[in-house]
Amino acid sequence: METYNKKLVVITGASSGFGMELAKEFANAGYPLLLLARRIEKMEAMNLPNTICKKVDVVEKEIFEEAIKEAESKFGKTDLLINNAGVMLLGDLASQDAQEWKKMLDVNVIGVMNGMQIVMDDMKERKSGTIINVSSIAGIQPFGNHAAYCASKFGVTGLTRVARGEMAPHNVRVLSVLPGAVKTELLGHTTDQNIIDGYNDWKESVGAVNITAKDIAQTIKFAYEMPQAVSLREIVITDTMQDA
Ligand code: NDP
Repeated sequence: METYNKKLVVITGASSGFGMELAKEFANAGYPLLLLARRIEKMEAMNLPNTICKKVDVVEKEIFEEAIKEAESKFGKTDLLINNAGVMLLGDLASQDAQEWKKMLDVNVIGVMNGMQIVMDDMKERKSGTIINVSSIAGIQPFGNHAAYCASKFGVTGLTRVARGEMAPHNVRVLSVLPGAVKTELLGHTTDQNIIDGYNDWKESVGAVNITAKDIAQTIKFAYEMPQAVSLREIVITDTMQDA
């Protein structure tokens, strides 16, 4: 196996938004990368050095695991897993299609748990490693039309807290990052146009439009690059003008 100066970083949901900015930030700093999402062409188009891109749905654990093993055989063991892939389908609980709830719980919760389970034993054995789960401010407080999304993100916050305790004796960091509203493709998957318009109006009205995906990516990289003994357990990060 060739030797690399930096250790392997695995990023899920790297085909847009935060994941794409994370990929660029870590590649610029010389990390070997495994990028995962379903739209492989978007990841390949970034043309980043020392990077493997794989078409993976994080809900499908076997394929997820195969991709990680393949990257590890080239770059060495995963030192950082960023469970960033997620979907947000806003809706009012009384009328939202149950398939939308299921999709969010599958991708946002089971996808994260799959990723964690794939790397945890190796990290424990090596007594080193970091897992960063991208939750949301909707993972610690309620927002209208977010019931199922909040259920999924409160889930991520909760499971991250429990896993942090499991991994603490092994010197493995388990962190969560909880962003507020940031412009990405995320809102575009909501099927109710009135909810999309209302959400955009709220962002405009409070001026919560200046924070960028790059700001989130740099914050995550900062947390990772602190010494292994330093655990920035939960980082809530919003636009200064976000009022809720
Ligand atoms: P985007 O929609 O821009 O990106 C989401 C990414 O997740 C895409 O790369 C998408 O890739 C990937 N993804 C979705 N489903 C799957 C799946 N089943 N398997 C693998 N990859 C998948 O949104 P953001 O960048 O904004 O979101 C990133 C994370 O940040 C999400 O977890 C989101 O909930 C969270 N977040 C975002 C906030 C915001 O305001 N933007 C605020 C708080 C949290 P593809 O479709 O190609 O598979």
